[in-house]
Amino acid sequence: MSISDNIHFFQNQLAGTDCRLVTVTKTHPVEKLQEAYDAGARLFGENKVQEMAAKHPELPADIEWHLIGHLQTNKVKYIAPFVHTIQSIDSLKLLLEMEKQAAKYGRVINGLLQFHIAAEETKTGLTLPEAEEILQSDAFKGLQHVRITGVMAIATNTPDETQLRREFSELRGYFELLRTRYFADAEYFREISMGMSSDYKLAIAEGSTLIRVGSAIFGAR
Ligand SMILES: *Cc1c(COP(=O)(O)O)cnc(C)c1O
Repeated sequence: MSISDNIHFFQNQLAGTDCRLVTVTKTHPVEKLQEAYDAGARLFGENKVQEMAAKHPELPADIEWHLIGHLQTNKVKYIAPFVHTIQSIDSLKLLLEMEKQAAKYGRVINGLLQFHIAAEETKTGLTLPEAEEILQSDAFKGLQHVRITGVMAIATNTPDETQLRREFSELRGYFELLRTRYFADAEYFREISMGMSSDYKLAIAEGSTLIRVGSAIFGAR
């Protein structure tokens, strides 16, 4: 199957749902990204700032760039002029830096709060109390160039479908709780980013609005 066939496959899988595809392009050269774009892909996910900043000028301007990897505050400036969504928000400090950099360009950058739902210790992300502490802070309420549009998480790397469903449903629960408590009138708070090549079907069944798919489109990295 070609890259283009694979993009069409996912477009068919998502037709009629509220879920969209983030094509995860990390490690792949711009020629392959262009092939995905030509097949209709518009949301691209990269996990490294330098790589995203290098690819961005080589590709069409209507791509929505999503950063999906851990972001150090001192690197926000390299992607602030163009990044659409930072899916890996894990601190107030990062939000404040996004605010500062986005303001320079007169832009609003979207962000997803990344939660820790996986069993593995190594997977980063916030707990619910940590996320609520951020949302309740005066510093957060003062942000004008950052908009929290939802939540994101990486599930445990396991074939155990019961566990995966439980984790996805946990993230959806956080989303619903935060929507009720902090974003009741905010139409823009609508994204639940979960599901990758191996588990996207379960994620969609549990309410994902953004699946992040790399290897099922481009092959193994
Ligand atoms: C690499 C990556 C993906 C895509 O993983 P695949 O298994 O290749 O689909 C999704 N989310 C994050 C955060 C990633 O780093």
